[in-house]
Amino acid sequence: MDYLSILRQYFGFSAFRGIQKEIVESIGSGHDTLGLMPTGGGKSITFQVPALAMEGVCLVITPLIALMKDQVQHLRDRGILASVIYSGMSHAEVLQVLDNAVYGGVKFLYVSPERLSSPLFIAKVQQMRICFITVDEAHCISQWGYDFRPSYLNIAEIRNIIEPQENPSLPPKYTIPVLALTATATPQVVDDIQERLSFSEKRVVRMSFKRENLIYVVRHTDNKEAELVHILNSVQGSAIVYTRSRQNTKDVARILSSNGISATFYHAGLDFAVKDQRQQDWQKDEVRVMVATNAFGMGIDKPDVRIVVHMDCPDSLEAYFQEAGRGGRDGNRAYAVLLYSRSDRRNLLTHVQTAFPEKEYIRKVYDDLSYFFQLALHDGEGARYEFNIDRFCQVFKHFPTRLSGALAVLQRAGYIEYDSDPENHPRCQFLIPRDSLYQLHGLSENEDSVMTALLRIYCGLFSDLVYIEEARIADYSHLPVDVVRVVLKSLAGRRIIKYIPRRNVPIIYYPQQRIESSHLVFPKAIYEELQERMVARVNSVLEYAESDDECRSTILLRYLGENAETDCGYCDVCVERRRSENTVSQSHEDAVQVIVDAINDAGGSLPIAQIHSLPLTKHQLDVALEQLRSEGRLVIKGSKVALVPSNP
Ligand SMILES: [Zn+2]
Repeated sequence: MDYLSILRQYFGFSAFRGIQKEIVESIGSGHDTLGLMPTGGGKSITFQVPALAMEGVCLVITPLIALMKDQVQHLRDRGILASVIYSGMSHAEVLQVLDNAVYGGVKFLYVSPERLSSPLFIAKVQQMRICFITVDEAHCISQWGYDFRPSYLNIAEIRNIIEPQENPSLPPKYTIPVLALTATATPQVVDDIQERLSFSEKRVVRMSFKRENLIYVVRHTDNKEAELVHILNSVQGSAIVYTRSRQNTKDVARILSSNGISATFYHAGLDFAVKDQRQQDWQKDEVRVMVATNAFGMGIDKPDVRIVVHMDCPDSLEAYFQEAGRGGRDGNRAYAVLLYSRSDRRNLLTHVQTAFPEKEYIRKVYDDLSYFFQLALHDGEGARYEFNIDRFCQVFKHFPTRLSGALAVLQRAGYIEYDSDPENHPRCQFLIPRDSLYQLHGLSENEDSVMTALLRIYCGLFSDLVYIEEARIADYSHLPVDVVRVVLKSLAGRRIIKYIPRRNVPIIYYPQQRIESSHLVFPKAIYEELQERMVARVNSVLEYAESDDECRSTILLRYLGENAETDCGYCDVCVERRRSENTVSQSHEDAVQVIVDAINDAGGSLPIAQIHSLPLTKHQLDVALEQLRSEGRLVIKGSKVALVPSNP
């Protein structure tokens, strides 16, 4: 089937948009391709359509678990075979998905980059027939990027171990083609992505990052909360307000509510169900303003967001562009406002320091972790611990922000893996033997439905703790998810099942044994060099926020490697420039009129000395006199100036 028919049949669109077609044709003909598309440009079409036209599995690598699940659901709704593997699935579940993929039961296989290094995955992927690899959020592979993830470096290796399909039209030393997609990348990152993914030749398809309907504004203020209330009172419609700290999301939401603006808050530390509920409330416009950390927004597609306000500067313009870009996806006018105060410069520079604490401090954190987990020297390879960060900070007197900087460095150096927000599924096991199920009496109707669902969906429940999905049970039993949870708890209370609810506890994993902290090595590439780049990124943010003579949109586009041919005309700088030009021309016209009136009042001519005492600046006077003279409306006669009567 040709691409257009696939687009029509599966996705219901009659034509490709923007650069979609170019990307589809490029990857479809086996070329490594990097697609640069701003969020909302219809990225998923660019790999889903060509993959459906080809034989074999399309491997999709993305770090966003929530997004993976959404996309898989969307594909399944269209009758397309799609599966996902993410951390938190049991070994048996993973194996089942991989086997399906080997035997042709999966068209799209979504995996997180961490998965690529697992021996099971490597073994199975070699047996699969793969058409091409899609790498979403491809900027994560670059150490120049703002969101570098070391696990992305595994992708190039995966390319090499997959046997390419027989294809006589392609050169013999041919590897599986790769399609890299990102919504933002600087020119440096664009080069780096292609290099790190071992592109056989450079090939970038880009779409302009210009957002005509999004108006960028920077407001300098020392009272951000008051300014925010003012802004939200003057712009109508759905809004996102980004703040840096979790605590602030709560505080700002409260301030908005007390000013009569409907608001809720969101951050990674909230319970899953709470996050889900709040996101839905906002999505359905039951709440107008979402106050959130940057944990909110990825994979969320609400087209009619009218304003995105940043209470604090983000660490990079790429991040700012992404977050601000969630406004106005419907093409109607929207605003991206950055609130900036005098202390922001200092705060941003402090972030660099906390992200790269002194190496001695990092060594101490490493030692403290070992004591905390009671991990002996040369022990612990493959160990996994729940990490109660509050208690750790309390016991060893650490500041959370500085600590997380140290943990990040330890992780980049490969000594630990730190997952601050693991996708933790609830688990369940039957405590009574299967035969006794029939002897249970007094089960409520809901209890009965939930038990039936458990038995139908999962196997192994009688011998093992099994990961379950409450949403799936809810679907099956036609009950709301929160009711399912209550029922599971009550069954656990009656000792019919063991139930371990979903928990959001950070995890620390030791990929290698504990060593002497004095032997820890922090290579330049993961410390000094990254630090330099962070400083450079922060400086670009400061330049954007503090500039008052260059169009905001032009600055952003230049940063993303694009040449804006014209200024946007609507950002605060453009508006201010137009206003001051108007003021000048206005006062200029006024000055001419003042002179003409004065001479007319004096009967047609006026001594030069009196002209100079008119209420005009010397500059205004000079310019106005020069204009009148050059137009032939005024002559100098001796010590007087006189108007030239205009011809009737
Ligand atoms: Zn502008």
